[in-house]
Amino acid sequence: MRGKYREIQEKIYEYFHARPELQTPLEILKDEHRELCWRQMYGLIKEAGIRPLKYVVEDPGKYFAIVEAAGAVDISLGIKLGVQYSLWGGSVINLGTKKHKDKYFEGIDSLDYPGCFAMTELHHGSNVQGLQTVATFDPITDEFIINTPSDGAIKWWIGNAAVHGKFASVFAKLMLPAQDAKGVSDMGVHAFIVPLRDLKTHQELPGIEIHDCGHKVGLNGVDNGALRFTSVRIPRDNLLNRFGDVSRDGKYTSSLPTINKRFAATLGELVGGRVSLASSSTSILKVANAIAIRYSLLRQQFGPPNQPEVSILDYQSQQHKLMPMLASTYAFHFATSYLVEIYSQMKTTHAEQLVGDVHGLSAGLKAYVTFLYSEIFECL
Ligand SMILES: Cc1cc2nc3c(=O)[nH]c(=O)nc-3n(C[C@H](O)[C@H](O)[C@H](O)COP(=O)(O)OP(=O)(O)OC[C@H]3O[C@@H](n4cnc5c(N)ncnc54)[C@H](O)[C@@H]3O)c2cc1C
Repeated sequence: MRGKYREIQEKIYEYFHARPELQTPLEILKDEHRELCWRQMYGLIKEAGIRPLKYVVEDPGKYFAIVEAAGAVDISLGIKLGVQYSLWGGSVINLGTKKHKDKYFEGIDSLDYPGCFAMTELHHGSNVQGLQTVATFDPITDEFIINTPSDGAIKWWIGNAAVHGKFASVFAKLMLPAQDAKGVSDMGVHAFIVPLRDLKTHQELPGIEIHDCGHKVGLNGVDNGALRFTSVRIPRDNLLNRFGDVSRDGKYTSSLPTINKRFAATLGELVGGRVSLASSSTSILKVANAIAIRYSLLRQQFGPPNQPEVSILDYQSQQHKLMPMLASTYAFHFATSYLVEIYSQMKTTHAEQLVGDVHGLSAGLKAYVTFLYSEIFECL
């Protein structure tokens, strides 16, 4: 990324250069990696004074530059930052209203409120509209009751849940008392702030069951977990109510007329996650290319008799492997930089044309970059 964000990236690199004990060793056990990743993130926020949340809103390019630099230190750190700031923080800021910003912004930004983004369920991943977790409004106590109705509805793969998260933005079907035969009306998927663990003791709160998703193929510095809710009561105010609200007497209001329109608006606000994935996958490709090309330059083998051996980068077979990857990485860099640029414009102008462009380009680029990324890593 560098360019106009060079200064903040240098600050991050300098902080980690000065703290060798925070660098991730080549071999590390899962639990140690998770703790190290937490200490890396804590140091970045509390000691180096990096405050990412306002950039999520005001200058996404700068936020992605922070994630890129952190990801170069350890990709688990980049992802853990993404969970805290883009997913948990982003859902509160983008789907909530002023009362949520006033209450949670500082705690999220300072890392006093580590949190999760709990959308995916065991039986519903891509199909978010089909998820089964319910949030039923109780007009007597002015609360929502969050329930996991079946094993398939357990929230799964939730980053920050297994060890560090104190809160989660939980996506659930909003149910209101109604006069029909079923006794409730389904208002569609909404997001709710649900406290998971006690802020002081870190104990799981009543009705919250947390399991560890365990070891993964990669990113083991991130503690993914599973969440089950049993009659968890939260105040009505914890509904992230930007696109739909419930009044004290249980009446639903929204500026958007249908469940489908509300769903599209809700997911539309989360498009930053896709932009971030395209951008951070490109960052990893840059690191991989730099390592492979530098090595090929320094590694010497064969050559004319009685002459210094030749750098393997001078061999055509090596160039045929590396140069197309380098060229693709440059192309991805410019394409994702453009995406980040129009995404930043979209966040400030909300122009309809840009919303469509960002949606299409981010969906395509995320799929394309991550597909080629896995192909390239197979070759390297
Ligand atoms: C490491 C990791 C971390 C994660 N962290 C979080 C988190 O913090 N919070 C969270 O909420 N979720 C998280 N997730 C979940 C992630 O968002 C889901 O894995 C993702 O949405 C896909 O859902 P799924 O795994 O159920 O795949 P599925 O929905 O089962 O899809 C599997 C594959 O089936 C195919 N497919 C499915 N539907 C269609 C269709 N309609 N058309 C064509 N093909 C289709 C596609 O090839 C797709 O890739 C995480 C996942 C992983 C692996």
